[in-house]
Amino acid sequence: MIIDPHVHVLDYGHWPNEWWDFVAADWASKEPGRTPEMVRDRIEAGLVDPDGSRLIEHMDEAGIDLSVILPIDWGPDFHAERSIEEINEHALVCARRYPKRLRAFAGIDPRRDHAAERLDRWLSSGDYKGLKLYPNCGFYPDDTRARTLYEVCLAHDVPVLFHTGDPLPVLSREYGRPKHFWNVVRDFPSLKLILAHAGAPHEFDEALAVATASNAAILEMSVWLWDDSNDTAELNTAQMVTRARDQIGIERVMFGTDHVSGKRIREPGFLPKVTDMFNRLPETARRIGLSISPEEHDAFMGGNAARLLKLT
Ligand SMILES: [Zn+2]
Repeated sequence: MIIDPHVHVLDYGHWPNEWWDFVAADWASKEPGRTPEMVRDRIEAGLVDPDGSRLIEHMDEAGIDLSVILPIDWGPDFHAERSIEEINEHALVCARRYPKRLRAFAGIDPRRDHAAERLDRWLSSGDYKGLKLYPNCGFYPDDTRARTLYEVCLAHDVPVLFHTGDPLPVLSREYGRPKHFWNVVRDFPSLKLILAHAGAPHEFDEALAVATASNAAILEMSVWLWDDSNDTAELNTAQMVTRARDQIGIERVMFGTDHVSGKRIREPGFLPKVTDMFNRLPETARRIGLSISPEEHDAFMGGNAARLLKLT
């Protein structure tokens, strides 16, 4: 069973005005005579997948059995049309439409009013299977307000997935650096903390060191392999996965893609290409004298995620 614990499914109004302004200005800067206004209101259509059906098609192409939708809360510094309640609810509606194929996490920026109470309510419903946090929107992982969310996740025994490493261009790089998780793993050693992207593209070593200091932290390897990755990137990923296995155990390393199912945000064929690279990781490893057993590979591709989602 292949489980992708990291995808995004968007509807209109989910991403903030500040993002559309950035994309429009960036697009306009690439050719003289273009203005941001020419494109500003048209870009969003290429990003959305309102009912999740495009994601299901892509999953079928890639042979992915189940995916986890991660709603993104951009936090109080950004301004989207939809509230975080509506954004979370959308993930849930998609998951309910495809109950065999999708699960939803909840997202909430810890700086929001009553964030812990709201998270507790969402998790109590049993509908959301974990929490997604995006520190790069403007908070440190060991922020006091973020810690109250970890208490809630521990109480409900669900994982919390963090973006780590380089963020989207309008966000700050600093907040998501793996070094900011040292205090979190020290104070919450049994928190099922998923370091998404494992510090990509520069900080795998520190992400692995942080995971090693915890009893439960997990490295999720999305972004290290992309649809344009070359052979060297595949070999490096095989090396990172085997290193992590040797250091923290294969049950704490997992596949992921960071797919976004809108029409124009990823290249056509993105999901099958990236999934195939992870599928052939054992052969890739063998080429540099490393070995990943079929059982280890199964755990990496889905077994570990199934356990986190309590499917097994
Ligand atoms: Zn993501």
